[in-house]
Amino acid sequence: MSNFIPLSVPNFGPQEAARAAQAITSGWVSTSGARVGEFEQALAAYVGMPCAVAANAGSSALHLAALAAGLGPGQEVLVPTLTFIAAVNPLTRYVGAQPVFIGCDDSLCIDPDAVEDFCANRCTLKADGLYNQKTGARVSALGVVHVFGNMADMPRLLDIARRYRLVLIEDATEALGTKYLTGPLAGKYAGTMGDIGCYSFNGNKIITTGAGGMLVSNHADWAAHAKHLSTQAKADVLQFLHDEVGYNYRMTNVQASLGLAQLERLEEFIRVKLARYEQYRAALDGYKGLRILPFRDEDGSVRSNHWFYSLDLRGTGLRRDEVIAALQAQDIQTRPIWALIHEQADYPQNEAYALDKALAYRQNIVNLPCSTNLTEADCARVIAAVQALADRA
Ligand SMILES: *Cc1c(COP(=O)(O)O)cnc(C)c1O
Repeated sequence: MSNFIPLSVPNFGPQEAARAAQAITSGWVSTSGARVGEFEQALAAYVGMPCAVAANAGSSALHLAALAAGLGPGQEVLVPTLTFIAAVNPLTRYVGAQPVFIGCDDSLCIDPDAVEDFCANRCTLKADGLYNQKTGARVSALGVVHVFGNMADMPRLLDIARRYRLVLIEDATEALGTKYLTGPLAGKYAGTMGDIGCYSFNGNKIITTGAGGMLVSNHADWAAHAKHLSTQAKADVLQFLHDEVGYNYRMTNVQASLGLAQLERLEEFIRVKLARYEQYRAALDGYKGLRILPFRDEDGSVRSNHWFYSLDLRGTGLRRDEVIAALQAQDIQTRPIWALIHEQADYPQNEAYALDKALAYRQNIVNLPCSTNLTEADCARVIAAVQALADRA
């Protein structure tokens, strides 16, 4: 399968091997060891935050974020329906809260107009917060996902969260390195603008520790509480005293060693992501009705990490699943965008609003290979295969 072009795979080299070997030969392979704290500090410094809390997965970081934010039974959380299910489960079902699903805008991120409309017209703002008129429940948080590394509309979403007293939780698991360049939030990285933000280092993310996650917060006490909960809520290590129900959500020293090596290469990875994105766009955007979805960079206000590329088939006669199958037959791995979350698990019982765009994108988007070790030649092979399909459509 040497000709196989995967969708998104890790990019490890001698640096990662050397760092992992150091951890292994030192014997510090588990959840103690100096590299975890070093990786927390290095990531915090990169995104411009005072501290960060490591976790064994992005999903765990999101669960810790929900707990630190005090989400729980009787509360509702506004979440996108067009996302990965791990953006929703930890903020809602894991803690006993209920989701209200909201559609996306053309950035693929949660639609601020729909969020505003829901808060203004379907809720009542009382002295102690926002209440859903239909369920009577307190609407206490807004979960924002920076989809595929594209920045959500943070100035508007932060303003909405402030006016309606919503905690804003950023799922920046796909958006490490995405930042504002101009405007009121200039210099701010995805994940650092809301109350609390989460990153993932899963194998398909822009940097990876095999599996892992990280959390940052603008409330120092929330970050400290998240750290406490991630380590079994130990109040006294020697005496095994625990002051609440905690979790074993810790990252290992080996994972953190990989993370330190990967973080040093992040800016290089972002440059490759942009170069391959531009290569796809130059060849495919406008080709026989095909589109490559833009990122928010267009107006110069954002530097995106360009994590995932989206081929939009709406202007063509091509069908999503036939394209995926035809490319797979040529050893090229692609995928559809996620199935909408409000239709899955037991979520059909929850409310869902403003879904038109999410449904259309669900039907018509194919994600193209985007590994940071994808070569220019492999990218050209994907382009030629997609063009041939469009020629025959
Ligand atoms: C990857 C991802 C997560 C979860 O991260 P894991 O590290 O895989 O647990 C959550 N939300 C979104 C949007 C993701 O893409």
